[in-house]
Amino acid sequence: MLPALLTDFVSLIFPRVCLACEEPLGRGEEHVCTGCRAQLPYTNYHQLPAAENPLARRFWGKVPVEHALSYLRFLRHGRVQHLLHQLKYQGQREIGAVLGQWYGHELYQHGLADTFDLIVPVPLHPRKLAKRGYNQADYVADGFSKGLQVPWAANILRRITHTDSQTKKNRVERWQNVATVFEVADATHVTGLHVLLVDDVLTTGATLEACAVALLAAGARAVSIATLACADR
Ligand SMILES: [Zn+2]
Repeated sequence: MLPALLTDFVSLIFPRVCLACEEPLGRGEEHVCTGCRAQLPYTNYHQLPAAENPLARRFWGKVPVEHALSYLRFLRHGRVQHLLHQLKYQGQREIGAVLGQWYGHELYQHGLADTFDLIVPVPLHPRKLAKRGYNQADYVADGFSKGLQVPWAANILRRITHTDSQTKKNRVERWQNVATVFEVADATHVTGLHVLLVDDVLTTGATLEACAVALLAAGARAVSIATLACADR
C-alpha cells in the first residue's frame, strides 16, 4: 500500500480512469467512478419473482434454470458495452473480477449465497483462449466467488466440437449442434450440486443453455445462470 501522497503523485503521472467512462477517478474511487456506478443500467432481476423475470422466461421450454440473473442491461454504445469490450479485448481482466464481486455481494446480501454449491464459468473456445490468453468468464467467476462466498472451479466444462459451419444449418440442426458443444470433463465434480453457471454477457442465451444441458446431463441437481450483462432480444 503506497502512502497517500505517493499515490496522488503516481496518479498524476498515470491518471487512473473510470473503466466505464474514461474520466479520471477521484480519490477513493476504484475502477468505476461514483457517477457511473449510480447510473449503470442495473436489471435487479434477482428481486423479481421467477415468473416475472424476463431473463428466466427465455429459458422456458428449453432447459430448467433455477435462477436467471444478470447484473446489467447491455446497451449498444453505452457504458456497459465499453466495460465488456475492455474486459474481452483490451486485457482489462479486473473488470470481470470487480463487477462480478459487486454483483456477487449484492446476491449474497439478498440471501442467495446458500443457494449455490459451485460456480462454473463458460469455457472459451481453445483457439480463442490461445489468441486472447485468458478466459474472461474465469475472472467473472472469481469475482462472483468472492462476493457470494461460494467456491468456483475452472475446467469443469469443455467444448467438444467446432461450430464454424453453423450458418449452413437450419434452426433445429443449429440447436443440436450447439447442444453437443459442451461436456463435463468429470461428472463427479458436479453430481448432486446446484451449479451457478457464469459468463460475461448473455446475447441469445444459446451457449448458456448448452452448458446447462451438459451440467444437468452430468448429474448436477440444479443449474442457475448469472452474467454481468444481458442484451435485449
Ligand atoms: Zn465513469
